[in-house]
Amino acid sequence: PQSPKPRPIQKLEETVVNRIAAGEIIHRPANALKELIENSLDAGSTNIQITIKDGGLKLLQIQDNGHGIRREDMAIVCERFTTSKLKSFEDLSNISTYGFRGEALASITHVAHVTITTKTADSNCAYRAHYSDGILVPPKPGVSAEPKPCAGNNGTQITAEDLFYNVPARRKAMKNFAEEYNQIMDIVNRYAIHNAGVSFTCKKQGSNQADINTLTTGSTVDNIRQVYGVNTASELLEINKEYKKLEVKLKGYISNANYSLKKMVLLLFVNHRAVENSTLKKMIESVYSSLLPKHTYPFLYLSLEINPKNVDVNVHPTKREVLFLHEDKIIGRICDAIQENLACANSSRSFHTQT
Ligand code: ADP
Ligand code: MG
Repeated sequence: PQSPKPRPIQKLEETVVNRIAAGEIIHRPANALKELIENSLDAGSTNIQITIKDGGLKLLQIQDNGHGIRREDMAIVCERFTTSKLKSFEDLSNISTYGFRGEALASITHVAHVTITTKTADSNCAYRAHYSDGILVPPKPGVSAEPKPCAGNNGTQITAEDLFYNVPARRKAMKNFAEEYNQIMDIVNRYAIHNAGVSFTCKKQGSNQADINTLTTGSTVDNIRQVYGVNTASELLEINKEYKKLEVKLKGYISNANYSLKKMVLLLFVNHRAVENSTLKKMIESVYSSLLPKHTYPFLYLSLEINPKNVDVNVHPTKREVLFLHEDKIIGRICDAIQENLACANSSRSFHTQT
């Protein structure tokens, strides 16, 4: 019941503002995990181990062997807009890290209980600290909130517990743990395939079997085989193209005309970010439509490297689209390259059968 008179306008409390902002960035456990994976990659990790409980709502844990966080930075690491990756706005035009806005860790601490254990190579011990609402908090009442020295390997372990404990409506909407876990696996699979040379494992807490376990020595195709199976991995054509004028490089693996799926798999990366592009997806569908049986689709892993000055990365972190110049042209070139590769594979096959 609205009163007929206007009510006084008041400034929202900071914790309310932060919680609302966090809810925009972290919609579900998979969003939080994506941010944590990107931080581990930014830290130069070659080994990333993920443990999940209840679809990530009870527990999201990630352990890496990256460069760690300095003891003196631990007090501010979870504050909003604190970052080691960006200094000036101009830096944005040639940013090479995933992160730059310093919002992810802060957001997670506004909707979960976070623990960080980290060790840099030149420190002789690790430090552990607990965070809520952007700041250090004591692990239990009456003890100090200061980071505590402890044993640990070089690298960082971040634990987020009880996600959305303080956002009851969101928490209630997340009843299907299996679905949340699927979303998590989708993110891990994509990053594992794209980051050959980095070992990824992901498992449910208490399970002794990992749902993905790639090796640092694995190639991209080895990683595709891990996730999509040997049938997929054995029907792949390699794409490797450079378009000098457009300042674009295209790399990837696409399935040949012998292979088809009920649903298209398109693992698309633009400057190493996993993104979606529905125009490209439709165009690819039509390229393959003359080759594949009706209602079946290809598998594609495509990585585009575009001159960073032609890409606007400054879009909201939850947006899975990125904006780049000459998009129509680039999409056209990608489809030409796919067509060419498929035609080439087809003619070499008919050549083989003739001889
Ligand atoms: P951003 O990645 O945009 O800088 P984040 O909130 O994701 O912001 O992280 C804040 C800072 O914390 C990073 O800039 C980085 O210095 C540090 N950090 C976060 N995660 C890790 C990690 N796994 N290893 C090393 N440093 C980390
Ligand atoms: Mg980050």
